Amino acid sequence: MYDLVILGAGPAGLAASAYATRKGIEFVTVAESLGGKGSERVAFPGPAEHRVVRPEQLLADFRRELEYLVERHRRGLARSVVPRERGLVITVETDDGSHEIEARSAVVATGTRLRRLGVPGELEYFGRGLGYSAVSYSHLLHGCDVVVHGDGRRSVDSALEVSRYARSVTVLLERVEGSRELYRNKLREASNVTMLDDCSIAGFDGDDFCRTVRLAYPSGELREIEADAFFVELQPEPNSEMVADLVELNEDGYIVVDLWNRTSAPGVFAAGDVTAAGFEQSLVAVGDGVKALISAYSHLNWGL
Ligand SMILES: Cc1cc2nc3c(=O)[nH]c(=O)nc-3n(C[C@H](O)[C@H](O)[C@H](O)COP(=O)(O)OP(=O)(O)OC[C@H]3O[C@@H](n4cnc5c(N)ncnc54)[C@H](O)[C@@H]3O)c2cc1C
Repeated sequence: MYDLVILGAGPAGLAASAYATRKGIEFVTVAESLGGKGSERVAFPGPAEHRVVRPEQLLADFRRELEYLVERHRRGLARSVVPRERGLVITVETDDGSHEIEARSAVVATGTRLRRLGVPGELEYFGRGLGYSAVSYSHLLHGCDVVVHGDGRRSVDSALEVSRYARSVTVLLERVEGSRELYRNKLREASNVTMLDDCSIAGFDGDDFCRTVRLAYPSGELREIEADAFFVELQPEPNSEMVADLVELNEDGYIVVDLWNRTSAPGVFAAGDVTAAGFEQSLVAVGDGVKALISAYSHLNWGL
């Protein structure tokens, strides 16, 4: 029986693991991969990056520490978390089958999965001029032409933020019919933003980097737009299925937490992108992971 199981090893899970080591907690971290989305990086053809803060570099030390502590992590997917008399039973799928882990408490830091458009060129160019999370790169896009695609307010916010640096921003919104006029008015706040209507993305083309997006109109017309950076910002999906029957989720499936990162289930804490807080930034996830860990520590010591 462990004191604590940490699910996920992205920025939130790595930071929680590092603090669990410092506090001498008997813990294990279960994750499909070490680093999570915090290891993702998008390169662009023009902008120089050597002077900017790069979250994946900041996270590298946390990651190395957990890699070194081989007994403290297991590669696997958590399928369910079920309460038992003395704590929790976590069912984990690994390469050699299904295993049960017993723990007195859990920190769920399983993040989100990106949704793809499923068009030609999308996977090929991901990371090479085509990315997700435009707000993470806006400061690198000085003087660039940028295309932002999305299905909601996050893409509108991204486009406005990028427009402070970029020369031009072209916004393509899909499935936002009820809010289209609201978003259009908001985007008018920036003179270098153009919103395109009634078209969808048919594919991406380029060389070493993504250079053009192909647009398809209902009339059958095709059009190409050249740009320096492209972002597909569909609302991601939270990896919360393993606790869906245990803790309160919001209507989009994100885990509801309080100020201390407690979920509605005693002894179960959550941190990072999987929570309903919605910040989606590595450094926020790191702080959140540490908060969740300290709360779990209090729970183990005091039952709080
Ligand atoms: C392309 C890209 C670029 C980005 N750039 C930046 C940036 O420059 N700056 C910035 O601040 N933010 C950036 N972000 C956002 C940032 O990466 C996320 O906010 C951050 O990674 C969230 O951390 P997390 O630990 O909550 O989740 P994640 O990073 O998503 O990690 C989730 C972890 O849980 C594991 N996992 C998932 N399901 C299960 C399961 N069932 N069982 C066990 N383990 C599971 C995964 O393997 C992973 O280890 C970027 C995101 C993307 C996609």
